[in-house]
Parts: sequence; C-alpha cells; structure tokens
Amino acid sequence: MTAPREEMACQICLSPLNTLGTPSTYIHPIQLATDGHEPVPVPVSQLHTVHRTCDFCGDPYPLWTLHGGELAAVAVGPAGGVVQNFGDRWAACATCHTHIDDGKNDKLVDRAVRTLGVGDQPQARERIAQLHQGFLNARLPERTLITTTAWPTTTIAARDLPKVRDRLAHLYRGPDGLPAPLTATDVRHQIADGLDRSHLFWIDGDFADLAEHAADILPEVTISRDLVPSTDGLIVWSRAVTSRQIIAASWTARRDDWEVATYRAIGAGLDGEPLQRLREDAGWLAPINAERVDERHLLPGNHPAAALVATWLLIGQQTAEITTADVDKGIRKAYARANRPVPEVRIVSIRAYSATRAGTRPTSGDSGLSHGSRFWVSGHWRNQPHGPGRALRRPVYINPFLRGPDNAPIKLSTTVRMLGSRSPKRED
Ligand SMILES: [Zn+2]
Ligand SMILES: [Zn+2]
Repeated sequence: MTAPREEMACQICLSPLNTLGTPSTYIHPIQLATDGHEPVPVPVSQLHTVHRTCDFCGDPYPLWTLHGGELAAVAVGPAGGVVQNFGDRWAACATCHTHIDDGKNDKLVDRAVRTLGVGDQPQARERIAQLHQGFLNARLPERTLITTTAWPTTTIAARDLPKVRDRLAHLYRGPDGLPAPLTATDVRHQIADGLDRSHLFWIDGDFADLAEHAADILPEVTISRDLVPSTDGLIVWSRAVTSRQIIAASWTARRDDWEVATYRAIGAGLDGEPLQRLREDAGWLAPINAERVDERHLLPGNHPAAALVATWLLIGQQTAEITTADVDKGIRKAYARANRPVPEVRIVSIRAYSATRAGTRPTSGDSGLSHGSRFWVSGHWRNQPHGPGRALRRPVYINPFLRGPDNAPIKLSTTVRMLGSRSPKRED
C-alpha cells in the first residue's frame, strides 16, 4: 500500500480527477463531458471551489465527507480498466446524508437509481446497493463539512444574523471536521468565543455593490486596530460578493493579530428534512478561507479577504450610514433565557451624499444621463497620510459619487469612469 496522496482536481474544469494505470496518470472521470482539454492536476486544497458530486447519488451539491470502508470500483472504458478511487472517504449530499443518518439504506439506493438514471437496468440497483453497503458497513462516526461546493447563490436577511452567528459558533465548537487550517481545536474555540462577542454588520445591496467594486481594485493595505469597526465582528453582505462568492467574513481579535475567515452560503435549493438537518448541524455558512492576519501587516490587494478589508475601509471613511435592525421577538426571548444581552444588528448602507458634500448633489436636469436610476461613477483608491504625525498611509476611496434623480434606485455602472483625481463636474 502506498501512503494516501492528496486528492487532485483539474484546474480548468475544477472536477476531481481519477487515476489510470501504474504508474498512475490523472484522468477526468469517464462519465464527465469535457470540452476535450487535458486534465491539469492541482491539489484540491489549493482550490476554493471543486465541482465534486455526491458519491452516493451524483447530486452536484455534496455537503459532508463521510469516513468508511476503503473501496474501489472498476469501470471498463475504451482505454481499459479505470479505477474510480472512492477510497475511504465519500462525499454525501444533504438528502443522502439524511437517509444514512436515519438508517434508510433502501431510500438511499432508490435515490441513486433515480438520479443516475439506471432504473431500467435490473443489475444496476443491486450493484449500487453492494457498493453503498461496503462503505457504510465500515463507516466511522466522524464527518467533515465540504466547504468547496459551489452552492447556488442565496441571500441572508439582516434579522437572521444572530442565529446565523450562533450556528456558526456551534459549528466551530462542535465535533464535525473542517478542512485545514480549521482543524486545530484551540483556533476553532477562539473563533467561536470571538463570534459570541461579535458586533454584527449586515451590508445592504447598494453598499455591497460599492464594496465589491472597491475590493476588485483594492491596493495593499496595512492592517491596524483602528481599521476594524469593532474588536470582534461578523459581516454579512446582502448578496455574495467578488469572484469567490463570499457572503460573510468574521474577525477575531487576539493579542497581536486577528483570525480572519471568509464564508460561502450553504443549503440553497434544499427544503424539508435535509434543509432542517443542515441548519441544525452546520448552519448557514461554510468557511472557505481562514488565516492569521498580523497587526501592521501589509495585506496584498488580491487577498482572499479583500472584500472584508474594502468594506472596513469604506465604513471607516464615513461612506456608511449605520442603523440598527429590529431583532426578531423569538431571538430576543431566547437570548433573555440564556442571560445574554439582546443582540444588535447594524445595517450598513450608503450615506446620502447630496446633503453632505458639495459638487456631488444629484440634480434632476442631469445632462441626459439619468434614466430613472442613479449610478456610481466608479471611484478609485488613493493612499492618504493618517495617524500620528501623518506618517502612515491608508487607501481612501476617492470620488464615489452618484448621478441621477435623488430618490431613484442606485445601480453600479462600469460604463462611466472617473479617471485620475479630477473633481466631478458640477451639473448645476
Ligand atoms: Zn478538466
Ligand atoms: Zn446524494
């Protein structure tokens, strides 16, 4: 036996790869329809998204990795025998996981027969049942949350933040595995404790648009205490932002650094029992990246947490208007019973510029550019001096200003750009 190798996926199509022959080469799964490209193997730990499917039924949104009996299935294709490396770890979707948890192996096989479309092949059902049984008979109790699944996009409401936060803290404290580097118990408990103390921020749609654009062009930033809007915090954007599809980020203060984590939303498209179990077991968020960020550390602009840093900066430079959301009655009561103070959810939206800054006032006679909506004239970052003796530098987002009728909805425009630091032309 050779030592277990790290699982590889194709960098082009993000699909996990199988091996063929000895010495082995990496190949696409035979059932996968590709555009004919050669597989480019990279370790899955380097990818934030992997197009994995449920090993029981083929569902495209696997949720848990289960640990069980070592199995290999041999499929015969035109190139000869191909070993499907199921190994001792299988990916399970929420529905299959519910059937397994309930010991309903018949339902598990029914689902596989249905989704794999082999209902008309009498031997197929038997083979699938044998394969499932071989794995499940040797199954171990542990499971690991799959954080690389590209779930359909969804939104999280501001009023749900307290319970989203509490479920996440529960996940960090609980026995379920998370991928590296979130394997260390002490780090997981530090983050959970930080979440308990967190200020909760919910970023509204317009501010999310602004933050996303600002994150895409973020320069390097020195991280310091006065940059973060609260000692510990959890930010949830009203929609997933940047190409990483981040919906939330948390930061946990330690003596000289922070543990910063970013999350994707999980569970979209599910309903009924599988959804309820997912919410109880894992909650709403799966960490896609976690790392230590040192104070005074220069963070590159393309850092995985760029959306968080850009949002911190925009809040810090008074771009934001912060109001408090009403917290659900049930949540208030639950917190009171647990002797916890009522949680506060801070809603972050764009400060109304028209009353505060000259030259940025949107006018109704707006040179034919307005079409019933307002839009951003895209800004840019500029390093400005700040701090003691103005010796430090911090990026400030310049010229984010609005054109269009005062009360119209705001749209992000990429067609109109402000170049350089020229002041916006006065319309009046
Ligand atoms: Zn590929
Ligand atoms: Zn499944």
